[in-house]
Amino acid sequence: MIYDVAIIGGGVIGCAILNKLTRIGKKCVLLEKGSDVSVGTTKANSGIVHAGFDAKPNTLKAILNVKGAKLFPGLCKELDVPFKQNGALVIGNDMSVVNSLYERGLQNGVQGLKVLDRQAVLEKVPSITDNITCGLYAETSAIVSPYEFAIALAEESVINGAQVVLNFTLSDFKKASEGYSLSDGTNQIIAKKIVVAVGGAHNEVAEILNATKYDLKYRRGEYYLLDKGAMDIGGYTIFPLPTKDSKGVLISATTSGNIIVGPTSIPSETDSTITTKYGLDDIASKANSMLSNVNLRKNIRVFSGVRTLVGDDFVIEKDSKNSDIINVTGICSPGLSASPAIAEYVLDLLGFENKEVVIKKLEPKIRTQYLSSNEINKLIAKEPRYGKIVCRCEGITEMEIINAINSPLKPTSVDAIKRRTRAGMGRCQGGFCFLKVMELLAKEHNIKIDDITKENQNSRIIVGDIR
Ligand SMILES: Cc1cc2nc3c(=O)[nH]c(=O)nc-3n(C[C@H](O)[C@H](O)[C@H](O)COP(=O)(O)OP(=O)(O)OC[C@H]3O[C@@H](n4cnc5c(N)ncnc54)[C@H](O)[C@@H]3O)c2cc1C
Repeated sequence: MIYDVAIIGGGVIGCAILNKLTRIGKKCVLLEKGSDVSVGTTKANSGIVHAGFDAKPNTLKAILNVKGAKLFPGLCKELDVPFKQNGALVIGNDMSVVNSLYERGLQNGVQGLKVLDRQAVLEKVPSITDNITCGLYAETSAIVSPYEFAIALAEESVINGAQVVLNFTLSDFKKASEGYSLSDGTNQIIAKKIVVAVGGAHNEVAEILNATKYDLKYRRGEYYLLDKGAMDIGGYTIFPLPTKDSKGVLISATTSGNIIVGPTSIPSETDSTITTKYGLDDIASKANSMLSNVNLRKNIRVFSGVRTLVGDDFVIEKDSKNSDIINVTGICSPGLSASPAIAEYVLDLLGFENKEVVIKKLEPKIRTQYLSSNEINKLIAKEPRYGKIVCRCEGITEMEIINAINSPLKPTSVDAIKRRTRAGMGRCQGGFCFLKVMELLAKEHNIKIDDITKENQNSRIIVGDIR
């Protein structure tokens, strides 16, 4: 088979491109180094679909953020992905900065912006500190589950004929009689065009493709993730006034009802995702300067994600040495928000018309968490495994986990199941359900439990004989 396009990298950008190209009827393959999609920066960010008032006007960041944000509600509905337009507040004590953000937002075409005085901010969030004198309200700002979004984009593509090759690390590239041959030493893929969307690994892949390398810089963002109900913030996303390097430490609701506090913006030599005392202390002090009810004792996890930057804007362009290669890198924030629009931009660079063909839709997921007892009882009557709780913290049943294991990408790791079902995402962080999830994975895939990994191939959990 000769593919129209091979996309290298299965983060939200690669998955959005795969989905868009599949929707217009192109034969596509996604090549991902990890054992699942969304294992890079896409799984570790704030999950905000930004309204678009922050980016410098007329940049790709500004244009594609605003366009992408408008596409999100419809896409999330079609893909059955958790999404909520919760509104954002930028709060601080400098009205001139608030006014400039408002003006910038208008220039970028953002609707639903409102400048607020202290009293108006207080009415929305009563726990603001005495430092806060003003704010900007952005009605269209929203929250999404970033990994569920990327997974659903890939899943819908797969049920419509796209191929996703996991555990594929490109090692060889050559010209073929038609198109190009891409190999990892085991699989050989032939494609007419190539899109490189590997985030911070761009230069490694560019080396193999003999394509352009960029001056990549990294900034690490560390977070606290708090338990559900940890603090009342009115459901909003609350930002400080932005700095030159970042949108600052935010406090936000997540689509699952947790509270996220972060990120830092720490320059890093590599794309390492460590967390540090320095970073976490910085988050605490910045969050406490905005709200008086920050409750970090309700923390259930700390984590970090790494932004890849190239200069001040996204890089989305044909390679200067080979116009069959499209480079997509430097996709830092607001890359998630812009992802559906980035996909359309790439489609244009590839010379395809944006005309979707009729496609199969994903079956809506059964999420017992959101069902009434009556609805759950009806499900149990048909399938008793909807009555067996595996993850006590999040209330996830055995059948939901089995559904996830048999979903289009056939996930094999414990973390892949966590991203799809939330089993292990609660306050015990998998303490009770981890082993049960491993057993279900082994049984459904008919493999030995020793072969189950936490995430990628080198993260085996059981090593050696435990009897
Ligand atoms: C702290 C932080 C907060 C953020 N908050 C937001 C936010 O709230 N809203 C927003 O809009 N944006 C946000 N962003 C930005 C957003 O997360 C990114 O723009 C987006 O995730 C980038 O996706 P990507 O697909 O380019 O990269 P990635 O998700 O990193 O995907 C790249 C993929 O390529 C794979 N890969 C690497 N090398 C190879 C190889 N050799 N072969 C095959 N595959 C390979 C990786 O395994 C990975 O899966 C944030 C980013 C950070 C770090």
